[in-house]
Formats: sequence, C-alpha cells, structure tokens
Amino acid sequence: PLPVLAVVGRPNVGKSTLVNRILGRREAVVEDKPGVTRDRVSYEAEWSGRRFTLVDTGGWEVDVAGIHARVAEQAEVAIALADVVLFVVDATVGATSTDEQVVRLLRKAGKPVVLAANKVDGPRAEADAAALWNLGLGEPHPVSALHGRGTGDLLDTAVSGL
Ligand code: GDP
Ligand code: MG
Repeated sequence: PLPVLAVVGRPNVGKSTLVNRILGRREAVVEDKPGVTRDRVSYEAEWSGRRFTLVDTGGWEVDVAGIHARVAEQAEVAIALADVVLFVVDATVGATSTDEQVVRLLRKAGKPVVLAANKVDGPRAEADAAALWNLGLGEPHPVSALHGRGTGDLLDTAVSGL
C-alpha cells in the first residue's frame, strides 16, 4: 500500500485548493463556504517521483455550534490513517481555538506534521506565517495554495517524510 499524506485543518483554510495543486488538476471541490457533504476523499498522487495516497478532509454540514467537534472528529480519523499530516492553517486569520484543538490531537497521535501557513499570497503576509511558530509544531511553511507560492518547498518537505 502507498504511504498516506493527510491534509487536515478547519473548513475554508484552503485544504482542497492545496490538494488540487498537488494533484495538478481540479478534482477536490473548492468552496467559498464549508458545506460540501463528503467527509474524506482519497486520491492517488505523485510528487517528485514519489507516489502516495493523498487524503483531503472536510465536507462539513454547516452547523456553527457543532463545527468544532466535527473538525476534531474528521481530523482524528485522518490523523489515524496518515503517515504524515499536512496541517493547514489560514495565516491571515491566525490560530483559532479549533486549530489549537487539532494541535492537541496531533500531539496525542505523535505523527509527523508539516505545518502549512496558507493564504500567504505575497511577501507582506510572511509575518502572519511566522506568528504560527506559536502553535509549537515547528516551522510554519508560508504558502499560497491559490497561486502556488511556496507549495513546491512545502511538498518536498511533506513527501520526504513519507
Ligand atoms: P477547505 O475548506 O479547507 O478545503 O478550503 P478550500 O480549498 O475550499 O478554499 C476555501 C476558500 O479559500 C476558497 O475561496 C479558496 O479560493 C480560498 N483559498 C484557498 N487557498 C488560498 C490562498 O492561498 N490564498 C487566498 N487568498 N485564498 C485561498
Ligand atoms: Mg475542502
């Protein structure tokens, strides 16, 4: 079986956009608002000559009260099946309590984590990314999943851990 790279994070941080960038095609559903009903979708992917299973998570029924628990539940399942976790945070928003909840799950699972500080569309947002050192997960990799900025380096790092 192929090693598994799972992409986890809150709704709307850009997980599916990043997945599409890795795949080089628009297969994962990108939504301006969370609300797609699929929970977990696996793709066969390749990066730098390395094949792996790429898992996109998300697809939450929007329920503001329950979103916290729902994210945690999805993240927990994805983390359990992952060899490496690609944890995506929206650097322009910063770490939320939901992000911190996922961090606790990551710590508990003890899986290797690569931290993507997404929506760093230009150099002025680099400082937002640096603020995510506070999550205690090591280096935040500033990326723009939308424009491709920094995603090559991020994926090199993630795939090298598979
Ligand atoms: P997901 O819910 O985490 O899968 O997030 P999506 O990939 O569906 O993206 C949510 C929204 O964020 C969409 O409107 C995307 O176009 C937007 N988005 C994703 N990545 C970026 C990025 O790097 N920069 C900016 N500005 N917007 C992004
Ligand atoms: Mg998505």
